[in-house]
Amino acid sequence: MTRMALEKPPNTREQKIGALADQCVQCGLCLPTCPTYGLDGSEAESPRGRIAIAAALARGDAEPTEALRLHLDHCLGCLNCERVCPANVKYGELLVETRALIGPIKHRPRGLLTLLKQPTLLRLAARLGGSAGMARWRQRLAARLPADSPWRAALQTLPDAAAAVRPTPAQETPSPDAVTVALFPGCVASIEDADAEEAAMTLMRAAGYRVVRLPAFCCGAIDLHGGEMDAAEALAERAKETWKASRATHLVTVTPGCLGTLRRALPNVAVDDAASLVASRIGQLRFRPLARRVALHLPCTQVNVARNEGALQTLLRAIPELDLQVVPRAPYCCGAAGTHMLEFPERAARLRETTLAQIATVAPQQLLSSNIGCRLHLAAGMDAEGRHWPHMHPLSLLARQLEISP
Ligand code: SF4
Ligand code: SF4
Repeated sequence: MTRMALEKPPNTREQKIGALADQCVQCGLCLPTCPTYGLDGSEAESPRGRIAIAAALARGDAEPTEALRLHLDHCLGCLNCERVCPANVKYGELLVETRALIGPIKHRPRGLLTLLKQPTLLRLAARLGGSAGMARWRQRLAARLPADSPWRAALQTLPDAAAAVRPTPAQETPSPDAVTVALFPGCVASIEDADAEEAAMTLMRAAGYRVVRLPAFCCGAIDLHGGEMDAAEALAERAKETWKASRATHLVTVTPGCLGTLRRALPNVAVDDAASLVASRIGQLRFRPLARRVALHLPCTQVNVARNEGALQTLLRAIPELDLQVVPRAPYCCGAAGTHMLEFPERAARLRETTLAQIATVAPQQLLSSNIGCRLHLAAGMDAEGRHWPHMHPLSLLARQLEISP
């Protein structure tokens, strides 16, 4: 009797990359959705080209030369390609594994990233940098640094004032069978988007959830996407321990950029964007009218990872009189892309210009975006172009308009 040979699961990183790359049928349907292909028009800067490079590196058919690495390093990790792929290629996983195989990218500003991953240090820097004198000093210093310096990009992106935090209203005693939700504050978001986190807690509590806030630390995305797998795994372990201690049934974040990394660390946990949970109980919430034209920018991670842009729009449309204009997307990424705006500031600025031009067509009074990195990156471009739209997280606007019954 003959037996079918059982297919062995790949057990080395190289085999895993090879198996992921083999899923690609090279149809090219992803190319028009790729922002870097749009920038350079080169196959090597496309998803299909990068998959071929990754496969060649994993099989030892190519050396990780600087030129080949650069094509991988330029990838924004936006996952527009993964969203449209008919062969269901797990491009995000392939990119993470390939970067781990060839090691951290050359342009990685390690000192700066260490600061960004430490909420305590970041809070101090935001306070110092936010004072009026220091804000002027920051801009002067930034102007003296080379155009491709990550520190220049960081100094130009840091907001002029540290984010204001409103006190969270005390929670009325939730019903005994209320679902317990743990809010993951993250690192940069816990300081620069603290207002959005307070807003998420207000909205979730109004919708009947019991909410606990976890300690602030990095989810590991910065290391995972930068090829520092050991550091990313250590943070994944911390996330697991913190989650276990919370005794919650859902883990949420207000930053869709953290979602993918948290889901990778906690594959059996319900990890969601806070907006999805609030939207699922929209019938319990009422909002005060607001006659304002707002542009809703949809970050790549909102569309391709959280996949909850519909829920977010449903929530915002519940604000009477709000004129909601969704900024057209494909094939764009604003260029922020996690640490990309620091590693390749000139490329990031070119991508930002397209997004700002699209926002301008909507002529908004305000800009909404769920990703603090996108908001700060876009705001830095607004100043340079003389376009000034106040910006905030969509949940912050919703919490301000929430009608709290007496
Ligand atoms: S759409 Fe999918 S299968 Fe087609 S080239 Fe892109 S990654 Fe490969
Ligand atoms: S993740 Fe984005 S930038 Fe990278 S290959 Fe896919 S579409 Fe292009």
